[in-house]
Amino acid sequence: MKQIVIISGKGGTGKTVITAAFASLVKNKVMVDCDVDAADLHLLLNPKILERHEFKSGKTAVIDGGKCNQCGMCLEVCRFDAITQSSIGSQQSTVTIDPISCEGCGVCSLICPQEAITMKECISGEWFISDTQYGPFVHAKLGIAEENSGKLVTLVRQNAKLIADKENRDIIIIDGSPGIGCPVISSISGIDCALIVTEPTLSGLHDLIRVVELTRHFNVKTFVVINKYDLNTEMAEEIESYCRNNGVALAGKIKYDTAIIEAMVNKKTVIEYSKGEVSQQIKNVWEIIQNELD
Ligand code: SF4
Ligand code: SF4
Repeated sequence: MKQIVIISGKGGTGKTVITAAFASLVKNKVMVDCDVDAADLHLLLNPKILERHEFKSGKTAVIDGGKCNQCGMCLEVCRFDAITQSSIGSQQSTVTIDPISCEGCGVCSLICPQEAITMKECISGEWFISDTQYGPFVHAKLGIAEENSGKLVTLVRQNAKLIADKENRDIIIIDGSPGIGCPVISSISGIDCALIVTEPTLSGLHDLIRVVELTRHFNVKTFVVINKYDLNTEMAEEIESYCRNNGVALAGKIKYDTAIIEAMVNKKTVIEYSKGEVSQQIKNVWEIIQNELD
């Protein structure tokens, strides 16, 4: 069983559109959305959720006001200044913990003489196993401003792999996170092939170079596709030249086409929606990757 991830230097390059197009082209696969901070592949795959799970990413300290005698010891040990006391020494003072500042180290709960502090698990998102007309789909949603997206990506990938093993699926296709941070690293580890989607702009080239460095670091076979190349053919040529000079395989170029937007509005993949040139260009990209995977 092979795993391919589609990534980009930043959001909005067309990564998800291309991933969804592959959902229409490839047989016997598991689809995965690892862009957990801004998940949107589900908008195109129309999943029917079969399983819904909470994502617990860590713990936060909580004070039981009934047990606390306001001794102030917990304030002294918290290195993150997450605990405050309203008026020290007063009978009326209250000790509170700011859940945003609390890093969940648990020291306060260990030293509290009244055993007034407990560590509560935080639910910071959800992950799902769904059925779609394209096969199984594992996806997730991280709460706003929640952290640990790398951990959630790993969880989603592990479950996709379990399904692929159980159902004898040949391939896992992953919509990865944009950028070069922790969730991307979780998206590309152990992958057979990465497809980087870029745009013909100067920032697109800079972002591409950073992502190529990352996939190289993890020794992942890397392909590049230039999306909307015809909007700036000069810059597209510069990206091609970068790929040539740095031994990065160019899997193809995709033209700008309003059919892509129209397909999204109609909640379809572009392959289903259009038989035009843009669909053919995406098919060609897939053929090149498939040859690599075979
Ligand atoms: S250490 Fe315990 S008893 Fe003392 S102020 Fe903190 S929560 Fe209250
Ligand atoms: S768990 Fe750690 S970070 Fe959170 S309030 Fe207690 S000492 Fe501070």
